[in-house]
Amino acid sequence: MSKPCKRFAQHWLRSEYALDKIVEAAQLSKSDRILEIGPGTGILTRRLLPAVESLVAVEIDRDLCEKLAKNLGKQENFLLLQGDFLSLDLEQLLVPFPSFHQPNKVVANIPYNITGPILAKLLGTIARPAETGYELIVLLVQKEVGDRLVATPGNKAYGALSVRVQYLANCERICEVPAKAFYPPPKVDSVVVRLRPRASEPPANNPRQLETLIQLGFANRRKMLHNNLKSIIEPDRLTRLLEQLSINPQVRAENLSLQDWIGLSNLLTE
Ligand code: SAH
Repeated sequence: MSKPCKRFAQHWLRSEYALDKIVEAAQLSKSDRILEIGPGTGILTRRLLPAVESLVAVEIDRDLCEKLAKNLGKQENFLLLQGDFLSLDLEQLLVPFPSFHQPNKVVANIPYNITGPILAKLLGTIARPAETGYELIVLLVQKEVGDRLVATPGNKAYGALSVRVQYLANCERICEVPAKAFYPPPKVDSVVVRLRPRASEPPANNPRQLETLIQLGFANRRKMLHNNLKSIIEPDRLTRLLEQLSINPQVRAENLSLQDWIGLSNLLTE
């Protein structure tokens, strides 16, 4: 087995149960074109390949790429790209490979040190949602991050990340995966999450402003919303807007639902 390297956040999944859960969550069909980020030794790749039309994997580690190419390179529905997922232009790179065009699903046990940037690349931002067209994204992530992705108002894990990602996708928590399911075990437990990108309903009239509201609103969790937002909304005005939305003016950011944030932002732009 390849020796895991810390620099690339390498932790090999070795739990059959977790692999089964990931594959099941991906609801695979023979017409699926998969993108896998960080295939590592290919343990997940091997499971996915026979069930789908094609799979393109992006792996940063040259040594692993050599091994993967040797072991899986003969499979016609497998394409391996060596490079940093965050900096490569996938659409451009896939131009010469029509059967790998526009993957419709992402399935991956990703490097946890770059979870935020990976999510941003896959989903985009409120102001600029990604136009990648993924219908489903199944990821193994650090438990704390998974908890934040699915958190609802009033929950300890509910914060700016929850609202931003939930604006862009439906988020489900599939199951927990303990640290010992990996070699070497990471310092944290993990969860499998499934995201389904979709347009927000209703959309924000001014997405950039919604982003600012969320960022400032959660800046200091203990403060009330009108305190956190006073640099951009005069407190009396905010009180009136919140009353229009039937929200208690003493509210904190953590108690506002996604719909409340959108409602507030849209009222402000009226
Ligand atoms: N999917 C494998 C490996 C997970 S470890 C398994 O389940 O066992 C994370 C993998 O991501 C490693 O193979 C690591 O080399 C790779 N990786 C780390 N940073 C990367 C990046 N920026 N782009 C692509 N792959 C990366």
